[in-house]
Amino acid sequence: AELGELDAAVSECRACPRLVSWREEVAATKRAAFRDQEYWGRPVPGFGPADAEIGILGLAPAAHGGNRTGRIFTGDRSGDVLFAALHRAGLANQATSVSRDDGLTLHHTRVFAAVRCAPPDNKPTPAERDTCAPWLHREMELVRPTMRVVVALGGFAWSAFWPALTAVYGARPPVPRPAFGHGTLWQGPAGLPALLGCYHVSQQNTFTGRLTPAMLDDVFARAIDLAGL
Ligand code: SF4
Repeated sequence: AELGELDAAVSECRACPRLVSWREEVAATKRAAFRDQEYWGRPVPGFGPADAEIGILGLAPAAHGGNRTGRIFTGDRSGDVLFAALHRAGLANQATSVSRDDGLTLHHTRVFAAVRCAPPDNKPTPAERDTCAPWLHREMELVRPTMRVVVALGGFAWSAFWPALTAVYGARPPVPRPAFGHGTLWQGPAGLPALLGCYHVSQQNTFTGRLTPAMLDDVFARAIDLAGL
């Protein structure tokens, strides 16, 4: 229930003027293919059970994906790739994710983003990143009892993990901080979640073959192992 309250609270947030106007402008103008649909046009909460052992941390909702459907990674190509992989790994009940009421259920996994509103060009400013960070921290606090591993999709998410480590766990990040890399694993002292790097599931990576389905399968197999599942 607490996580549901947080999800409801974040979806009312208007703290970043540039992102508020962008998300609402996109929702009002729409992409032609979706012109009959009502866009969400608000901050997009995390998705998945409150007792998840695995966290999957993305960058921000896509303008015509999460910002349209109201569910993170839902309704865009990135999500198609991500949820198909989660399904192959046994972490989702179905391979597709098209709308908030499509019957998708995640197992042991919570998907969330470092920034909750769709940014222009998928690039939040440092100020927007910092303004939104407490939402992620509150969410991680609520899933803290079970969370064992965070899969960071891309360098932005990887960087967002370290402030969360301090805010949620009171832990000091390692110095120097390990650089992001696909397959890079950081494990701190007992009681802290492991951090596993994975190239972002964006079309830039999946269409070019930089990130293949087999590579994603390897990442989620490792995450399941690290989570003790
Ligand atoms: Fe609020 Fe985060 Fe959206 Fe900024 S990005 S308006 S802090 S939910």
